[in-house]
Amino acid sequence: MKNPDWSQLTFGYYPTDYNVRCEYKDGKWGELQLSQDTNINIHMASSCLHYGQEAFEGLKAFRGKDGKIRLFRPEENARRLADSAHGIMMAEFPVEKFLEAVKMVVKANEHFVPPYESGASLYIRPLLIGVGPLVGVKPASEYMFLVFVTPVGPYFKDGFKPTPMAIMRGYDRAAPLGTGTIKVGGNYAASLKPGHIAHEKGYSAVLFLDAKEKKYLDECGPANFFGIKNNTYITPDSPSILPSITNKSLCQIAEDLGMKVERRHIPVEELETFEEAGACGTAAVISPILRVDDLDENKSYVFSKDGKAGPISTKMYETLRGIQYGDVEDKHGWVTIIE
Ligand SMILES: *Cc1c(COP(=O)(O)O)cnc(C)c1O
Repeated sequence: MKNPDWSQLTFGYYPTDYNVRCEYKDGKWGELQLSQDTNINIHMASSCLHYGQEAFEGLKAFRGKDGKIRLFRPEENARRLADSAHGIMMAEFPVEKFLEAVKMVVKANEHFVPPYESGASLYIRPLLIGVGPLVGVKPASEYMFLVFVTPVGPYFKDGFKPTPMAIMRGYDRAAPLGTGTIKVGGNYAASLKPGHIAHEKGYSAVLFLDAKEKKYLDECGPANFFGIKNNTYITPDSPSILPSITNKSLCQIAEDLGMKVERRHIPVEELETFEEAGACGTAAVISPILRVDDLDENKSYVFSKDGKAGPISTKMYETLRGIQYGDVEDKHGWVTIIE
């Protein structure tokens, strides 16, 4: 495949040369295999198709000014995939094998890692699925691990721009004792409809509330929420949100910048008091929030009066991106250079 026009890339799928696969059969994982086939051949009675026995990850490779390719905290993704596997009774994919597979797929597709100047990156999507014939509701006995890559454009084509989000109490993403803390496809299926409704109304995402009491902030669809006030970075503590690696990194960066960090329940009304707010995750790093409209209470919380991101969110965004691209010192050993 040829290189894309780097400046035209969006967050879509652009075909690359190789993917890496691995099969679990008879109680053990086989060898990693490099494949050029973009299709997979699985049994129609596979548990991933019927009962959502599927988990995934998302991380990126960045090319620095020095031409080197960097991965950001890939061992965190490896461990989280193992947690997800335990959560829905799948065979665990070993952390070391995960790291090896990610390096292998990036190296095999090296020329798709966008140049530094483009501001783009290579998105890496690992997935783990239950396969093999099965009709009863129980865990599969065979699994497939796959990892593919696709170059993605800078998330903010027109710069780092705040967008509006909506609170809609008619929908939940995940239940407190359900699967919200693991990265499984089922959580996303539940979020598609509210997400679609929010988009139709002009919002970039739904800010979900805790499913039980509808009192506290949970997360923003595929990204964690944070608010900033009084030199403090505040992010929800909840039994139904996904532990974002970006959020964990921002908590550390906030501390490094001399801020306080609080992980606790955030009542909806507290939105009133935040100086800045944002959503965070691998795709955007930080998506600053312009305004949250509570559609049931007919109330609006505004975080940006001039349509620009706040100074602290901007500083944090620049610091994290700087570490990822190798422009800012990697004090915490978060970056893995692919040799
Ligand atoms: C993946 C994901 C995030 C972001 O996690 P990162 O590790 O920062 O990419 C947030 N919320 C949900 C529901 C997710 O699936």
